[in-house]
Amino acid sequence: MLPPGHIAGGYLVGKVLLNFLPYSFASAEVNQLLLMGALVGFAPDLDMFYAFNRLRGFRLARVDEYDNNHRTYISHAPAVWLIAGLAIFLLAGTSFWKTFGLLIWLGGWSHFILDSLEWGVMWLWPFNKKEVYALANKKYEARVHEAKGFVDYWLRYLLEDYAKHFTFYLEILIIITALIVLLD
Ligand SMILES: [Zn+2]
Repeated sequence: MLPPGHIAGGYLVGKVLLNFLPYSFASAEVNQLLLMGALVGFAPDLDMFYAFNRLRGFRLARVDEYDNNHRTYISHAPAVWLIAGLAIFLLAGTSFWKTFGLLIWLGGWSHFILDSLEWGVMWLWPFNKKEVYALANKKYEARVHEAKGFVDYWLRYLLEDYAKHFTFYLEILIIITALIVLLD
């Protein structure tokens, strides 16, 4: 999934979480927490910049470069976000930072759930580096290999690859849902 979908997903997780928690916040705090949720929803993909650096270009890893598929980095391991989030929750002294800890866990996991529909995520790490999928039965292979520069590459990726996946339509749905909730 692309950044807009992950941001919208993290925002929705924040909304649901704030509804369920027994804490009450001032409206400025609510807005800060929802913003944090949105950012955490996207945050695991910041490891793409490390991958871009290793791949020497703003593109996705080919199958023969699988070690530099950013979803094989530990920044994409759900256990890391679970442990970090719970540690913050347990150590935090205020309900605001406790909620932030839960957002790290659950906002991060919203990212991994969406990534694991078709792209695969290491749900079993640290016991196993195997990627787990919900809908796909084989490793994702990037379809665009040659392009005339950055814009051409990512446009072709969007049209020739990403738009052919179920995730693309789910992403549109999540963005629309988040906008409806935001404007409500
Ligand atoms: Zn991701």
